[in-house]
Amino acid sequence: MTYFEFTKRFPDENSAIDFIVDAKYKDGYVCPKCGCMHGRIYRQNYDRRKLYCNNCKSEFSALKGTIFENTHLDLRMWLYAINLVNVSRKGISAKQLQREMGMGSYESAWRMLHQIRKAMENEEYKETFEAIVEIDETYVGGKPRKDNRHDDSDKDDENKPKRGRGTSKTPVIGVKERNTGKVHAVVANYNDEGKRLSGKQLFAVLKKVCKPNTTVMTDQFSGYDILDGKNKCDFVRLKIDHTVAYSLGDGIHTNGIESFWAVLKRGVYGIFHNVSVKYMQRYVDEFCFRLNHRDEEEAFNYLVNLAVK
Ligand SMILES: [Zn+2]
Repeated sequence: MTYFEFTKRFPDENSAIDFIVDAKYKDGYVCPKCGCMHGRIYRQNYDRRKLYCNNCKSEFSALKGTIFENTHLDLRMWLYAINLVNVSRKGISAKQLQREMGMGSYESAWRMLHQIRKAMENEEYKETFEAIVEIDETYVGGKPRKDNRHDDSDKDDENKPKRGRGTSKTPVIGVKERNTGKVHAVVANYNDEGKRLSGKQLFAVLKKVCKPNTTVMTDQFSGYDILDGKNKCDFVRLKIDHTVAYSLGDGIHTNGIESFWAVLKRGVYGIFHNVSVKYMQRYVDEFCFRLNHRDEEEAFNYLVNLAVK
């Protein structure tokens, strides 16, 4: 939505509140005081952020349990920020948001963006990818995770030849579905054995998002050897054969997920000027969300629904 379209759709604060409350309570609600079920929404007219129970005559906040719960800002600002996150192809930084919306503090702009990203975490990817997927890993900026238990393994790592050239970067695993172009990506943290990018970890990512029998295209990285032969999801691995000239096109490649890495890195370095490891997963989720929901209208409505989930 352009700013003009936005102001037409949400001409005042109450229209924004009503939109959010309707999204949350479209199936009705149960009064938290008396447990009475309401099939429709009863609002308090003097404060539309409050719902009313006509059985026990009590009122309660309609925003409890949503990302808007403790906000002092106008909900129109929130909706406009959600819109900006959706329409900014490479993402929007807290500094940009602060400027764009004339917000007093950088911190509240920063917090707002993080709450919006948190809403994106509510999206579930559970065995939705099928047919053919590509899987790949990359390293994205940010300092190494400081985790006392694994300090030693970090030191060890420095002496070993590295994939992706960077001990100071964070590995991210990504899966892209060929048919739809949808992507799911997760930050690879250390597992219980102090390892990351292990075969088990890669397999777990695939198992979470792919249906059984999916064909998985990978590069030569040995972590994917876990897919060779029989595995419990009956995934079939096709390994890129570098002896086949690309122009011959055997169709086995990971170009799709690699192009996602390019977008992610441009955003992380160009817009966000690097991202701490602590928040890396949220940024990754944001980039996946934008890619997976390209229709602006649909993405906006869906994201508001995730925000009140
Ligand atoms: Zn009640």
